[in-house]
Amino acid sequence: MKYALVTGASKGIGRAVAIQLARDGYYIIINYNSSKVGATKTLDEVQQVGSAGELMKFDVTDAGEVKVAFDGWAQNHAGEYIEVLVNNAGIRKDNLMMWMPEEDWHEVLNISLQGFFNVTQPLLKNMLAKKFGRIVNIASLSGIKGLPGQVNYAAAKGGLIAATKALALEIARKNVTVNAVAPGFISTDMTQGLDEKELSKNIPAGRFGTADEVASLVSFLVSKQASYITGEVISINGGLYT
Ligand code: NAP
Repeated sequence: MKYALVTGASKGIGRAVAIQLARDGYYIIINYNSSKVGATKTLDEVQQVGSAGELMKFDVTDAGEVKVAFDGWAQNHAGEYIEVLVNNAGIRKDNLMMWMPEEDWHEVLNISLQGFFNVTQPLLKNMLAKKFGRIVNIASLSGIKGLPGQVNYAAAKGGLIAATKALALEIARKNVTVNAVAPGFISTDMTQGLDEKELSKNIPAGRFGTADEVASLVSFLVSKQASYITGEVISINGGLYT
């Protein structure tokens, strides 16, 4: 059995990634924080495509909660390990910096950046020992070029991109790759309140992307065929960023 963990897999991009990796033959560990119903729906879809999985609840910002979940999992899976990790959990709390409440700065950074640390560090040991692993971090266009109203989000995703590059260098020799995917505008709950028609005028492809399109890219990055790609940031944005 090959195990893949997707954080924030209760909806949106995380759910699409979970289903695609299930199609690829992985057993999926579906992390969620508040949306058990959504996570259960993801599990149903994982099973519908012929694989299996389980729910794993934790808040990525809470290192203690993550540890308890991983220790419990390890007890039930002696000799096995999680070889694929997709750090997808993320939120946005947009505001001009002038008016940004300090807690919105911390919350956005804690989920995307501290969450990356909390979840990735405990899984590294086994990936290195087994000499195979794949880590894919879901960053954002905002983390590459910055977008107004997203100083917190751009900092979180920019930090995630830098961490991706540094970690990739640390562990490349062990056959563990670390890459980031940087989506532009993707149709999910996160982008629901946006004026899609108006924003699409500025996207060369003329539309928002789909979560399935992001999932296909993640699927390639975790595949054996992508063994020589590490420390990269791959944009998926319909040509928006050049
Ligand atoms: P979404 O539909 O709002 O889903 C966000 C997911 O993150 C949910 O499953 C949520 O789980 C989870 N999550 C939030 N806080 C968490 C926490 N503290 N611990 C564990 N899980 C947590 O968003 P999405 O559009 O699919 O975005 C997924 C990722 O892609 C995010 O990192 C986002 O920044 C990035 N991204 C999205 C876009 C876009 O246009 N949609 C563009 C660029 C990058 P619960 O509901 O269970 O709390």
